[in-house]
Amino acid sequence: MDNKKGKLFVISGPSGSGKGELCKKVLETKLAEVSISATTRAPRNNEVDGVNYFYITKEEFEKRIGNGEFLEYAQYNGNFYGTPKDYVVKCLEKGINIILEIDVQGGLRVKNMIPEAVLIMVSAPDYNTLVARLAGRGDTSEDDMAERLERSHWEYSQLPLYNYLVINETGKLEKAVATVCEIISGEAHEECKTQNHRDFAESFYKA
Ligand code: 5GP
Repeated sequence: MDNKKGKLFVISGPSGSGKGELCKKVLETKLAEVSISATTRAPRNNEVDGVNYFYITKEEFEKRIGNGEFLEYAQYNGNFYGTPKDYVVKCLEKGINIILEIDVQGGLRVKNMIPEAVLIMVSAPDYNTLVARLAGRGDTSEDDMAERLERSHWEYSQLPLYNYLVINETGKLEKAVATVCEIISGEAHEECKTQNHRDFAESFYKA
């Protein structure tokens, strides 16, 4: 019997990096499943319960924390977000690769618990592009946007703790998707290793 376990991948990136669209495309390739998180944040206009997130109340979230139902959880801009443990564990046992699209705090917690997890940071090519993408979404308030941009500085400071950096250039989503698929398939991706991008954060804000 084949007892090969699935591999766990974390995809993080500052708000506006395009990681959501990227994960959707990777999901279509069937190389991996994407875990659906629970959140106390209100759904955005185009979001659907059970598809984008499971939208639950703070009370329910706290109950699930108490029951040990989350693999990890974090607070982001005043809301809770958590990864349901059961689903992830079952996928891995069945040999299914799984992607967690979670924030950097969550990514680092996962790495502590599961050292063999592969952490991928998705980034816009430069800061101006990140700002333009966030503003262009039209579903984020000015205050929320400012907080998300401010937070990106800390997120990039953690880049060395991630395994790979994938630049999601505007109009080249397919290229970023192909790169992530290659990483999932275990193909060598030397040029994306974060150790080869030590100055990235500095140049990102300067450009
Ligand atoms: P958004 O409000 O833009 O959907 O998500 C805010 C941030 O929370 C994003 O960085 C997203 O990746 C992250 N996030 C979503 N689900 C989870 C989760 O289950 N755990 C953690 N730690 N972060 C999450």
